[in-house]
Amino acid sequence: MAIATIDPTTGTTLKKFDPHTATEVEERIAKAQGAFLELRATTFEDRANWMHAAAAILDQEADDVARLIATEMGKTFATARYEVLKSATGMRHFADHAETYLAHETPVEPAEVNASALSVRYDPIGIVLAVMPWNYPIWQAMRFAAPALMAGNTGLLKHASNVPQCALYLGDLFKRGGFPDGAFQTLLVEGKDVAPLVDDPRIRAVTLTGSVAAGASVAEAAGRNIKRSVLELGGMDAFIVMPSADIDKAAAQAVTARLQNTGQSCIASKRFYVHADVYDRFEELFVAGMAATSMGSPFDSETSFGPLATERGRSDVHELVDDARSKGATVRCGGEIPAGAGWFYPATVLTDVTDDMRIYREECFGPVACLYKVASLDEAIALSNDSDFGLSSSIWTADPSEGERAAQEIEAGGVFVNGLTASFPGVPFGGIKDSGYGRELSAVGIREFTNIKTVWKA
Ligand code: NAP
Repeated sequence: MAIATIDPTTGTTLKKFDPHTATEVEERIAKAQGAFLELRATTFEDRANWMHAAAAILDQEADDVARLIATEMGKTFATARYEVLKSATGMRHFADHAETYLAHETPVEPAEVNASALSVRYDPIGIVLAVMPWNYPIWQAMRFAAPALMAGNTGLLKHASNVPQCALYLGDLFKRGGFPDGAFQTLLVEGKDVAPLVDDPRIRAVTLTGSVAAGASVAEAAGRNIKRSVLELGGMDAFIVMPSADIDKAAAQAVTARLQNTGQSCIASKRFYVHADVYDRFEELFVAGMAATSMGSPFDSETSFGPLATERGRSDVHELVDDARSKGATVRCGGEIPAGAGWFYPATVLTDVTDDMRIYREECFGPVACLYKVASLDEAIALSNDSDFGLSSSIWTADPSEGERAAQEIEAGGVFVNGLTASFPGVPFGGIKDSGYGRELSAVGIREFTNIKTVWKA
């Protein structure tokens, strides 16, 4: 994919960027290695001070950065601004908690292992390559950057090719906060040039957030090189509604769950399983709620959601809808590409979806919901688990035992009871099955890229 800022509301190319040459890439890797030797000798306090300073800069520049996000990938300015502020909060979280998350531990009494002293340390490992997607261009990258730098690692960011200006902003931010030059840099390279980077012995690990295909390619390169990898891939999250739920609230939340980020969110609910006893009411409210939304300019405060980020993304979404329609699905609203410029796609609800339709199994990265009627919680859970993905899920019920059953039986990295799936800096985030492996955020996330070192003393 060419590296460029293309306005998704018009399709106009606003700015093009040349990929870094092999020499420029080499210079950056060498600089990251030098910065690692410097960074690992610093204290948590040093790094926390720099991280707080960088977070303050991000806060101050929130409007400018939000404009950049909205321009490059089309989300509304308001949601882009929220993303920027959330990222600054994430930075402060790791500035304040990294030392505790990575404190030395004594897992058993030293005498039990014939030692006079025993400790487990979480040491940094070196340069980590981060391959990131465009859908939350600052937050996704920050989920990696803040813990990595606080652990004493250095980062090389290969961002998605359609958000180069967000990528370059991030490539400067940490240096501006005071981190050593080279501690966090952006590499302008295309997706196809990532695997050879993983072969470089100075790059010690790789994390990728993106599609299953890209994840598999990076994991293959990491495996070949015996390097650690973390993958945060797609999702087909289920949204289960039981009869005891507040149906008005659940239907309103379902609209948000599906349309957040124009439906381009790994944790957007994509499959809605509604109990037969409340199905008709839910369907009426949900379809009306979806149809009442407005797509438009990211900079218009009346807009519910902006265009899809790429032309290809829109044609992928429409192909899935057309395939379902041709096989008998009912399109309750939306489902047609609007006339005019830009990569807009309307809020769409499909019913009568069957397992021979592609959308039954494939992730639809756009504002399209599939609504299913179920006879019981058993059926809802069985259908939720009938997916190659396992990122998160949500259930709406006033019965605590139903929430508990969902928590126990749904095969996913998260279950949210009476709430939308969300990520929080202090809570592990990640999936199972084709949604990936490893975790981001929290103590678990920061430890992914550390050397868990046992120190035993006679
Ligand atoms: P994508 O094509 O996989 O792109 C993601 C990143 O991977 C980009 O930087 C891309 O670079 C790079 N890339 C593409 N092909 C590659 C390859 N063969 N080797 C190495 N890197 C490669 O993903 P997308 O379709 O833009 O993003 C949407 C996907 O990301 C969805 O499936 C979504 O669910 C998932 N996602 C998951 C999470 C999570 O936390 N689980 C969060 C957000 C998004 P180029 O731009 O240069 O191609």
